[in-house]
Amino acid sequence: MIDKIARLMQVVLITAAAIVGPGASLGWAQTANPAPADHPEITVHGLKFTPGSILARNMGTPEDQTTQFPPHKIIGNLYYVGTRTLSSFLIVTPQGDILINSTYERNVPTIEKSVEQLGFKFSDIKILLGTHAHSDHQEGDALMKQLTGAQTMAMAEDVPALQAMTPGGKEHPIDKTLHDGETVTLGGTTLTAHLTPGHTRGCTTWTMKARESGKMYNVVIGCSLRPPATLTPNVVAEFSHTFPLVRSLACDVPLGDHPAQYNMREKYAKLRDGAPNPFIDPDGCTYEVDIEEAMFHALLDEQQKAVGH
Ligand SMILES: [Zn+2]
Repeated sequence: MIDKIARLMQVVLITAAAIVGPGASLGWAQTANPAPADHPEITVHGLKFTPGSILARNMGTPEDQTTQFPPHKIIGNLYYVGTRTLSSFLIVTPQGDILINSTYERNVPTIEKSVEQLGFKFSDIKILLGTHAHSDHQEGDALMKQLTGAQTMAMAEDVPALQAMTPGGKEHPIDKTLHDGETVTLGGTTLTAHLTPGHTRGCTTWTMKARESGKMYNVVIGCSLRPPATLTPNVVAEFSHTFPLVRSLACDVPLGDHPAQYNMREKYAKLRDGAPNPFIDPDGCTYEVDIEEAMFHALLDEQQKAVGH
């Protein structure tokens, strides 16, 4: 009899959980088979985004992360040498080249292939930079340095996270520590490092000027602005500094450490000799910050409601 009552109670509980539905407090019946939390949902520029959809858009499939995207000129002396979903940028100068983002270590041979296919020498890479201390952007730094001898530079606030990145036991190379606003110059091209924290402590947005048809354009190579699931007071303070700063940068050519952040695929498809350069897109300069700032505020609202503010 006690058994029967216990079983009946189970049915009642499961039924109650089913009626209350997802989004209600998680009973044991649901935690036994948890669905990943993927909220809030926001609409920006007519498109719907969730934390999960932004991550999926950024990363694609494991195959996308490691498959070469056709290497191409973006503007002036700036080229794309990354995979379908992980950006690597090459800046070519008469005194050697600069690479931004080695991505995963396993992608280093793909980047080498892309550099050579564009007609440049991999061994000409003299400086290696990064956007932020996550393995999908900077895990390959040690191997890249081993193969090219490039000097590596990193934003001070990202150094601890980079030092913790040791693929195959290799120490993360950091030859020079940078601070907000510092510049890196090689062969007449100057890159400025802007500290734009939030996604990581030392997330770095790079700006440079590129010349095309006698005109100079402001290029912004954005660091990821994707907020983490839990917003600590520190992260909130960092993003509160970063969003307005990113919006204030002079920008004609918006780029990002994941191609989806600047619609690379669509722009690449529009490349034609004699046609306007699709990467010159001042109207697209706030596309990514609009999405991430809206998501940040939606997450913050949700978090504050959860603690009863
Ligand atoms: Zn990241």
